[in-house]
Amino acid sequence: MSTRRGVAGRSAAAAGERVLTAVVPVWLDRADHEAAHRGCHASALLWNRCVAWLREEWRAGRRPGREDVRRFVTALPAAERPVHAHTAQAVAYDLWDAVETARARRAGGATGVRLPWREKAYRPLVFTRNFGWRTGPAGGLSLSLGRGRRRITVPLPVFTDREGVVVDPGRWGEITLCWDGDARMWALHVSYRSSVGTAPDSPAGRGEERVVTVAVDEGVINPLTLVHRAPDGVHEVTVINGRSGRSIKRGRNKAVGRLSSMMSRCRNGSRRHRRLAAAKRKTRSRAKARLRDFNHQVTAKAAEVVRAAHDRHQGAAPDGVTVVVRVVVGDVRGIEQRTARRRRVHRSTRQQLSQWDRGTHEHQLAYKTGLEVEHISEAYTSQSCPRCGRRRKVRGRWYACGECGLRLHRDAVGGVNILTLADNDGTLVPVGPSLAVRVTYLRAQPGWGPLQRALHSRHQRARGRAGAGRRGSP
Ligand SMILES: [Zn+2]
Repeated sequence: MSTRRGVAGRSAAAAGERVLTAVVPVWLDRADHEAAHRGCHASALLWNRCVAWLREEWRAGRRPGREDVRRFVTALPAAERPVHAHTAQAVAYDLWDAVETARARRAGGATGVRLPWREKAYRPLVFTRNFGWRTGPAGGLSLSLGRGRRRITVPLPVFTDREGVVVDPGRWGEITLCWDGDARMWALHVSYRSSVGTAPDSPAGRGEERVVTVAVDEGVINPLTLVHRAPDGVHEVTVINGRSGRSIKRGRNKAVGRLSSMMSRCRNGSRRHRRLAAAKRKTRSRAKARLRDFNHQVTAKAAEVVRAAHDRHQGAAPDGVTVVVRVVVGDVRGIEQRTARRRRVHRSTRQQLSQWDRGTHEHQLAYKTGLEVEHISEAYTSQSCPRCGRRRKVRGRWYACGECGLRLHRDAVGGVNILTLADNDGTLVPVGPSLAVRVTYLRAQPGWGPLQRALHSRHQRARGRAGAGRRGSP
């Protein structure tokens, strides 16, 4: 997307700024609602045409690039792309991003990765600054669907950054209009530049850099385990508990399953059928909101751990030394695909794996720390003893080494090993008898903490000052 910068970042960045996204619900009138839906379908058709064209090119042995895809889209007659030229261009670039991601994963050794091929029925509409969207004279926001078509007009979204300051349109970038099918609601995703939460610019070129690695082990039961070496040499392990996340999913799966079986017993299109379908959507959308909250709780805690690791090392470092944090995640991509083929895993385990919010966690962690997340193969990291290196199968939540007598939480074992891998360029070197581990457990609980409550009321006050109305009123 764009360059980000955060906790004394590794990523190259625009001075002290990063791009964040605010999600603002909007209510469209009937005509706009229909026009937006038509636009989303048209955008999906465009995507499908691009995919078909790309695959045809590849079959013919040609290797089109990013700009070729863009040219293909913009060369289509206007009647065949009933959206703004920039919206169409965004479809092309998104598709190209998907191609590059798939290629990078293949290059990284992931198996079962396919280049884009699926037909889409729906795609959100992207509006670029000044061309796609602009603020209207009456204070509204107008979104263009292309020349000669009526614009979609909504009240100007008002939102604040993490400091509670209203973000004015001068800082906005791209805006995406998205339909949430479960909640049956439109939302604007407004990207904006922010310097909040970023570290001051480190004096480049001056002084020496010290790299501190934070290893992240992702799991189904405990979503994130973070490990780094404290300045005193002790392996600092933080296990973030995910029990409430699992219970939300279990509750949703049960309720949806029950509703589905009730639906299967009544006539398609009947009143009862429609009611049950609505209940199912509502269940899904509620669980989605709770899970979103839960995931943010998990990653906010993880980002806090990363920040604290940085600050501790910076505090312990001699003058002139800049501490730089590197976040390395054990790569488990591809596990879901493999489980579908090899039926050795129990059905409920497969369901757990497929509903694992791993990608979301990585994305949010990168977003909240402003750092790039690196991946490293996590082969054998859960089976090897971090002290003596002996490999064994593990059962249960505890790892006990028969060789050296080490007894450690299973997630901590994985985390310490990922850290060793990252610090030794991918080879698993046992830490040796000096291994000391400190484990902290954090629980990500749904619901608001005191800080979030305070932030919310600050946002509401700021919105009030900016003259924003209540939810939904223009
Ligand atoms: Zn051992």
